[in-house]
Amino acid sequence: MSKIDYQFSEEFANQMDQNDSLASFREEFIFPQINGKSAIYFCGNSLGLQPKNARAYIDKELQNWGNLAVDGHFEGEDAWMFIRQKSKPALAEIVGAHTHEVVAMNNLTSNLHFLLVSFYQPQGKRNKIICEAGAFPSDQYALESQAKFHGLNPDEVIIELSPREGEHTLRTEDINQKIDEIGDELALVMMGGIQYYSGQLFDMKSITESAHKVGAYCGFDLAHAMGNAPLSLHDWGVDFGTWCSYKYLNSGPGNISGIFVHERFADSMDLPRFAGWWGHDEDQRFLMEKGFIPMHGADGWQVANSNVLALAAHQASLDLFHKAGMENLRKKSEALTGYLEFLIDAISGESGVLEIITPRNPSERGCQLSLLIHKGGKAVFDTWYGQGVVGDWRNPNVIRLAPTPMYNSFTDVYKFGRILERSLAEFA
Ligand SMILES: *Cc1c(COP(=O)(O)O)cnc(C)c1O
Repeated sequence: MSKIDYQFSEEFANQMDQNDSLASFREEFIFPQINGKSAIYFCGNSLGLQPKNARAYIDKELQNWGNLAVDGHFEGEDAWMFIRQKSKPALAEIVGAHTHEVVAMNNLTSNLHFLLVSFYQPQGKRNKIICEAGAFPSDQYALESQAKFHGLNPDEVIIELSPREGEHTLRTEDINQKIDEIGDELALVMMGGIQYYSGQLFDMKSITESAHKVGAYCGFDLAHAMGNAPLSLHDWGVDFGTWCSYKYLNSGPGNISGIFVHERFADSMDLPRFAGWWGHDEDQRFLMEKGFIPMHGADGWQVANSNVLALAAHQASLDLFHKAGMENLRKKSEALTGYLEFLIDAISGESGVLEIITPRNPSERGCQLSLLIHKGGKAVFDTWYGQGVVGDWRNPNVIRLAPTPMYNSFTDVYKFGRILERSLAEFA
């Protein structure tokens, strides 16, 4: 990408918005109001905004339910029995996979457990798991409890990777070296695709290759990468992945998760799984017979029937992603986050009040910037909220700001710059 000559001016931001081919997508979303004004919403990393069309999509299923009742499972253009199929093309596009490698189901942590049942199979001394230190707590609990489930001591089998002294993010070379070092004792690498706290985008291709070289499986929790960073899970050879849909995928609080399972396991009978009827061969499902026959691909990991109302809200958003296109979104995202980075450097630069801990290299991050605030603390952050900025505070002193390319504008970032400028003049 050619370098942008960023400027801290309203005219510049306006110009960028005028040249933005995705600018109209902003109109597709409902912005929360703070003190009577539309928020400057930088919290899509936690909960994405509501697409205006979500209501109509859900309403359609409510009508189907009302009009068809039980017959809705098999009748109508979107019979619930097959409704999951609808989300597959967009999900496959977003994660870089074939449609049979993905399926929407359950919630993220639940899926992590189901996938770990298949892909964490400690045997003898090959029982170690590598993950990043400070992983999202749910991931830590999942890994620890899986180790215990196999009768192992989590402190002995889980190896957490920390950044080098004085650094905030992991170096790929250090991750790969650790994988090599653990070698034939390594059963699994399971990390975030983007680290939720630091915003670091890991080199998933390289990590997967290293894991496979020593005979270990490799999977990623894509909660912060999904709909945010470019993914090619199939080509990278990743074994499995899971994500949530309520962060960058804008599908609603707690909404449905999804999984990726590489096609090399599409018909695997060797991997252990916790099975349920929705993973059973579709043609024979309603024969209600004994003997589990897994469906081809990711579908074979489904356990329970599809949550239709959840899928409706999910689809409203996925249709927007398909329309916008991941490549376009990424291109804008790099420019937008680059602008935020430029303004933070320009405004806080010499004072050293704010320190960006997210990698400076755009190919090592998504849209989120994580900042350490060294003076003024939460009081500064709180004044932003009063002026309509929704970000996210993590103790003891981290602020996460995520301008999303789907609905944020360069003017949003510019306005935040002015608010930041005033708050630092006042507090720091
Ligand atoms: C948001 C997030 C979760 C949340 O898990 P749920 O099962 O959806 O409640 C888990 N892991 C990571 C890395 C996350 O960012």
